[in-house]
Amino acid sequence: MEYAVIVENLRKTFGKVVAVDDLSFYVKPGEIFGLIGPNGAGKTTTLRILSTLLLPTSGKVEIYGHNVVEEPETIRRIISYLPEEGGAYEQLTGREYLEFMANFIEDDKEKIKEMVNEAAEISGLGSRLADKIKTYSKGMKRRLLVARSLMIKPKLAILDEPTSGLDVIHAVHVRNVIKKYAKEHEVTIILSSHNMLEIEHICDRVVIMNLGRKVIEGNPQELKEKFAAENLEELFVMAVKKHA
Ligand code: ATP
Repeated sequence: MEYAVIVENLRKTFGKVVAVDDLSFYVKPGEIFGLIGPNGAGKTTTLRILSTLLLPTSGKVEIYGHNVVEEPETIRRIISYLPEEGGAYEQLTGREYLEFMANFIEDDKEKIKEMVNEAAEISGLGSRLADKIKTYSKGMKRRLLVARSLMIKPKLAILDEPTSGLDVIHAVHVRNVIKKYAKEHEVTIILSSHNMLEIEHICDRVVIMNLGRKVIEGNPQELKEKFAAENLEELFVMAVKKHA
């Protein structure tokens, strides 16, 4: 089987700081895969390498058979990346922003319209899409960016803390959208999160990282049973303390 993502012995250093250390994992097509870990564990660094925004120091990373170092252009055409903190074009309205982004990847006017309508639904912003982005709250901007990441139906969506800053209602909405998208459109998703409930709800598999290294990998339910943990939060604290 062709893996959607192969990460083998990945290492990334920034001077003396080892951000990612001998990290390996494999993601199957259509899977929702979670990266979790405390602050500074190396999640964003890993996601930025997968997105071709950072070069690995060593190790192998392939997205749908394409190597991140040798074929970044090919990879950029099949992925979307939601950064941890993404700015949007403040002077545009939400709808103009979505149209602008859709125009980058599609020429057909009807398809652009379809994409934007879909993104409008994902964002749940309703009539506020007619307002300038500079008037949006943090959570509204986040929803717009999540919608932009999914509307293009990438083969792989890389989402760095997709629900950060969202209230409970909208976080639930975005989680459901992510799950629905992965299943209906066979979009593979890799996401990072600090919300264990979110991870339990939507991820088929997770990797818990600490200090750049993988400490545990598996299906959230199976991991809970295996380690007799009541919830993922408990397991997370146990795993991180043990490997600190
Ligand atoms: P958080 O949950 O706080 O977002 P994270 O798991 O995403 O953390 P990273 O941002 O990947 O962690 O950082 C991993 C380590 O690499 C940290 O020690 C961080 O200080 C370091 N690091 C990340 N980017 C750089 C950089 N550009 N220059 C120097 N060090 C960096």
